[in-house]
Amino acid sequence: MRILVVEDDALLGDALQAGLQQAGYAVDWVQDGVQADHALCGETYAAVVLDLGLPRLSGLDVLQNLRSRQSSLPVLILTARDTVEDRIRGLDQGADDYLVKPFDLGELAARLRALIRRSTGHANPVLRVGEVELDPAGHSVTWQGRPVDLAGREFTVLQALMLNAGRVLSRAQLEDKLYAWGQEVESNTVEVHIHHLRRKLFPGLIETIRGVGYLIPRDKAGD
Ligand code: CA
Repeated sequence: MRILVVEDDALLGDALQAGLQQAGYAVDWVQDGVQADHALCGETYAAVVLDLGLPRLSGLDVLQNLRSRQSSLPVLILTARDTVEDRIRGLDQGADDYLVKPFDLGELAARLRALIRRSTGHANPVLRVGEVELDPAGHSVTWQGRPVDLAGREFTVLQALMLNAGRVLSRAQLEDKLYAWGQEVESNTVEVHIHHLRRKLFPGLIETIRGVGYLIPRDKAGD
């Protein structure tokens, strides 16, 4: 899952990027509102963490621009303790959640999981497809009740396909979720992860739609 972090405070931005990477996300970090606007126009994210007090273009303006493009991307705003009006305006302008600085990184990660889950139409935190269960919080997968050991990017690919069960994801869409800016995309990496997932789980779980992409059929979904 790829996240955009918009934060002009270098120390906080750096900590956010590192912390969310640790939690398994690909993270792009920008430090002003104009860069945020560009990133949101050009890239596909699972969610954005948006500071409101930003140079060049305020976080509220970034949010307003995003919603005026009819984007339903989950937005979590970061605000200072004394700016309750900003929080209200942010929520009224289409933010989905907020945190007041200073905040706990674990809480931020949990709120992002909830936002991403709801934005993809899943109320249950544990994803289920047939006998495969994936727990985003625990970063764990089981098949027929037995734990399956997946590498970080295998987990991300499986999570993306399970969140989108019944929809085909192209190789480019999956690559987008795996890599942040500046990370080199290794060729065939998605194919390799799919191959490993089929071997570690079972061959029929993920279907290849020739020339289009990959799919976990919805009728295998158990919930
Ligand atoms: Ca700021």
